[in-house]
Amino acid sequence: MKRTIAIILAALFIIGITGCGKKEVSKIGEDEELTIFMHFINYCVYNDEWPIFKEASRLTGVTLKGTASETISDSAQAWSTMMVAGKLPDIIHNTRGKLTDLADDGGLIPLEDLIEKHAPNIQKFFEECPEAKRIATSKDGHIYFIPGSLSGIEDEALPSKGFFIRTDWLKKLGLETPKTVGELYTVLKAFKERDPNGNGEADEIPFFVRQEGVTDLYQLFGADYSWSEDETGVLQYGVVKPEYKQAVKQLAKWYKEGLIDKEIFTRGQNAREQLLSNNTGGMTHDWFSTTGSYNEAYKNSITGFEFMPILPPADVNGVVKEVRSRAPLHGYAWGISKDNKKIETTIKYFDFWMSEEGRKLNAFGVEGVHHTVNNGEIKFTDTVLNSTEGVPSYMRNQGQVEIGTVGSISAELMGMNEIARKGFIAYKEGGFVKKQFSSMTWNDEEKKVIDAVSTNITTYVREQEQKWIFGTEDVDATWDRYISDLEKMGLNELVDTYRKAHIRTNKK
Ligand code: CA
Repeated sequence: MKRTIAIILAALFIIGITGCGKKEVSKIGEDEELTIFMHFINYCVYNDEWPIFKEASRLTGVTLKGTASETISDSAQAWSTMMVAGKLPDIIHNTRGKLTDLADDGGLIPLEDLIEKHAPNIQKFFEECPEAKRIATSKDGHIYFIPGSLSGIEDEALPSKGFFIRTDWLKKLGLETPKTVGELYTVLKAFKERDPNGNGEADEIPFFVRQEGVTDLYQLFGADYSWSEDETGVLQYGVVKPEYKQAVKQLAKWYKEGLIDKEIFTRGQNAREQLLSNNTGGMTHDWFSTTGSYNEAYKNSITGFEFMPILPPADVNGVVKEVRSRAPLHGYAWGISKDNKKIETTIKYFDFWMSEEGRKLNAFGVEGVHHTVNNGEIKFTDTVLNSTEGVPSYMRNQGQVEIGTVGSISAELMGMNEIARKGFIAYKEGGFVKKQFSSMTWNDEEKKVIDAVSTNITTYVREQEQKWIFGTEDVDATWDRYISDLEKMGLNELVDTYRKAHIRTNKK
């Protein structure tokens, strides 16, 4: 086990180190300036002071000026504000979906000829990642934006979330790490009833999360909350399948018995701080990098505190799997607006971010500030590693944002503490992390169906789910009505539309 981890780490580090040799980037211009719209996830707004972009400016001679206002907190509102302003900024950054819409409206210019003439690194990226080229190619055959990849490797599933449990509570109660969903039930029951925090009250909250309710537990019952491929490759909508019905029944029972947080749907972003700091939370399912950090945070205030990653318990069919993962391509991209007067400079600037130097700058930040290089070995500085908000948030505020570049998993691993890293590697090495299926693109007709029925259906599904989990409605008694309601709302059209788009996506 130890040896394999070492091999994987070595392999990852080699990927990370490639291109760490210093080489001079040839300047694109002298004091050129381009404007950029970047406002996403409701808080990430391009900042002219970001050190990572200042370094890019030093290397390329091109400086970006942000146009989105930080006083707007809603990214959708910032987008509309830009759209009504008339003249567009030179560079537009956003989700691939938004950029597709903008291109359809004539707001972005085609890039394929520019790429061929001026962007060897982008060409190389498209060769390495054909899926990236596919999703960047619009239905009219043009490329309107440059997408970005998390690692530059397309056929891998990257772990995102995993199970963490109070292993000191397990030891205290004489329990083994749960290896099946049945054993997990026993463990959570013991957490509830046998007072592992030792205060004489049944105040333990065995399972909690900060977002998306009980969604991450369905996998333990062989069910799926969202869309997934069945064994024959046909797309299925999880929430209308018999497996989902059985899973909701079981989870309603868990909820009733107090094994799941009473506030599971509403606890919110600070769930981990709340329930771990007061010594009541027993288990969660969350991102490795941040969840691994609580051991350090609470080791002095809670005697024996150990919150460790464990492998997913086998589901009701004996299958070990983790459905949460990240697609190799992230959802953001950038393109050149119709109002841009420095098109050649811009495509060359985009190309810089796809060069080895640009990729390294995004992944590891600025040498001497964010990382050091010794004998070819790259390391984050203590300022980065010891940052109180955690490495990912700290680096984001330095300008490590999702643009048309390739990130580095070894940088991500280096930013994790040992506990998080071990969890991440164990999930990756286990080979049970489910790969996301290819992202779909809708044609006009399909988009109409999605727009018309999708929101109503997902809202209804979520409301009904809560009624069942809370026990206000009985699953068996109301299941048929649920299905027929969904059918009236356009379920069959929605499923057909997803399947059509899925088949077309996979044909290419
Ligand atoms: Ca207690």
